[in-house]
Amino acid sequence: MANEQLNALVLPDENGNFGKHGGKIGHPELARALAEIETGFRNIIQDADFISEMKRLQATYVGRPSPIYHARTLSQRGAQIYLKREDLNHTGAHKINHCIGEVLLAKKLGKKKVIAETGAGQHGVALATAAALLGLACEIHMGVVDIAKEHPNVSRMKILGAKIVPVSAGAGTLKEAVDSAFESYMGQLDDSMFAIGSVVGPAPYPEMVAYFQSIVGHEAREQFQTAYGGLPDEVIACVGGGSNALGLFNAFIDDKNVELVGVEPAGEGLDKPGRHAATMTLGKFGNIQGFNCYYLQEADGTPAAVHSIASGLDYPGVGPQHCHLKDSGRARYETATDAECLDAFMALSREEGIIPALESSHAVAYALRRAAQLDSSKRLLVNLSGRGDKDIDFVLEKITV
Ligand SMILES: *Cc1c(COP(=O)(O)O)cnc(C)c1O
Repeated sequence: MANEQLNALVLPDENGNFGKHGGKIGHPELARALAEIETGFRNIIQDADFISEMKRLQATYVGRPSPIYHARTLSQRGAQIYLKREDLNHTGAHKINHCIGEVLLAKKLGKKKVIAETGAGQHGVALATAAALLGLACEIHMGVVDIAKEHPNVSRMKILGAKIVPVSAGAGTLKEAVDSAFESYMGQLDDSMFAIGSVVGPAPYPEMVAYFQSIVGHEAREQFQTAYGGLPDEVIACVGGGSNALGLFNAFIDDKNVELVGVEPAGEGLDKPGRHAATMTLGKFGNIQGFNCYYLQEADGTPAAVHSIASGLDYPGVGPQHCHLKDSGRARYETATDAECLDAFMALSREEGIIPALESSHAVAYALRRAAQLDSSKRLLVNLSGRGDKDIDFVLEKITV
């Protein structure tokens, strides 16, 4: 049966493709394991017990629905700015939405453990939280460079009971952590489930993570109509792998008058290779870590080095559904630099009393720029994907307050 939460434009064909993007894994053993996850996923989303358990946890554990807040001071720039407050979720970001779904599925499949990679530690913390809640073991692979950088999240994962596997190969960051986590998973396919942290990777992950994140857009569309009347002119979200953006966009895809805008990190500038992560803007088509998408490449096709002030956005690839939304012309992708992101971080903190994650600040940066180009009758809805507690020390090193 079809996945009724997702718009047809972001649903895969039987080969896991969205247009020319996406795809299934070739490796036979892994393909069998991922097919088991895919079948399990298709069954549970039709299972009344699963749906009611997920709804119970969303309401009483995560704290959903998250409100939409009209940021009136920020809106003095021109267009009205509204924030979908995913930063108010338990654990402080949108990632808990798909982590609870993935761990519930793992449990349903009889698995004892979830395995994942993490970059900044946000996915690791959300997954460790869901695993603690539902009584599964949790194994998190993390580059040694990231472990040194993201100490509070490492401590959180340890306290929550996760086992952290340090990865020293290569640059010792996210990409190597993904390889290491997959290798470990290969050795324990029967007992464990791999839990990817965004709408990336081979099928069924892009569809599955989009399904679990789609609550954001379904809630937002209804809340906006009820509280403010009609629909926003633009819905805006930052894009790393693309899960928070797709979660919001999905419900608005058929609303032809609503523009969908993803915001990518321009880092230190689009003219500086290796110092940005503007995948949709400058990436080329190819296969990265088991799926097809646009990704930032060196001349020989290997993934390029990337940078963003927001560690949750510095991945050279991007989810296949976003690539397809771009090809189809339904969504457009803009950028914000590190400097614009810091300005937006401070503006939201000082003018509204909300400290946003640096990732989310990219979406806010675009919204501030855009609001000033539009009159006060226009309405922009921004996904505030996470709170900025994790970023406060870093920001104070960059600017003087
Ligand atoms: C991880 C993260 C992101 C980026 O991931 P997407 O899959 O692109 O949403 C954005 N915001 C926050 C707060 C994050 O933790």
